[in-house]
Amino acid sequence: MTRLILKGPLIVASYNKGKIQEIENLFIKYAINIIPVEKFGLAESAETGKTFVDNAKAKALETATTVGLPAVADDSGLVVTALGGGPGLYSARWAREERSFTAAMVRIHTLLGDTKDRSARFVSALALAWPDGHTETFEGVVQGNIVWPPRGSNGFGYDPIFQPSGHTATFAEMYPTLKQTISHRTRAFDKLAAACLRLPET
Ligand code: IMP
Repeated sequence: MTRLILKGPLIVASYNKGKIQEIENLFIKYAINIIPVEKFGLAESAETGKTFVDNAKAKALETATTVGLPAVADDSGLVVTALGGGPGLYSARWAREERSFTAAMVRIHTLLGDTKDRSARFVSALALAWPDGHTETFEGVVQGNIVWPPRGSNGFGYDPIFQPSGHTATFAEMYPTLKQTISHRTRAFDKLAAACLRLPET
């Protein structure tokens, strides 16, 4: 049965500042205080799963069982159709290998070359986990296209080269509040909220 989470604290199992900020914003209207996992001095979990959902679940579960409090984790990435779904699960890894997101974006641009198909999607899997091993998982997707050159300085990661369908701005050109209304993470979060959260009584 789906489990509700009615009050905090809730540990965010991520070391990515952009992601933590977005997750904090999403939980803001619920009576749940978010604590970044770095406060507990845990090492970052290895991502060994074959899907975003597997990785999000593993990260949330490891944190919840180690800390003894419920945890939320996001595993997300940019899936480029003409690159066979890459960088996908390896989105963060490409940036580490190239030593920056700028270089990782150049890698995508170079690999795409003259390819006509620029379609891509951001995917986010959100997992909630409890210390007793219970988990809930949700997935959200936003479709769009890869643009070049990169545009905008808001957001994080691959935002400057991702233009969501139906918009002329890239994610990095949008105000964070606009990105938050349409992003993959928000879409996953909306499902999580409908299933597991309730607004506090005023
Ligand atoms: P992970 O989920 O920690 O493996 O990292 C996901 C990676 O996907 C991030 O480091 C970014 O590279 C990319 N990513 C996920 N969501 C976004 C987003 O909203 N904007 C830009 N890049 C993102």
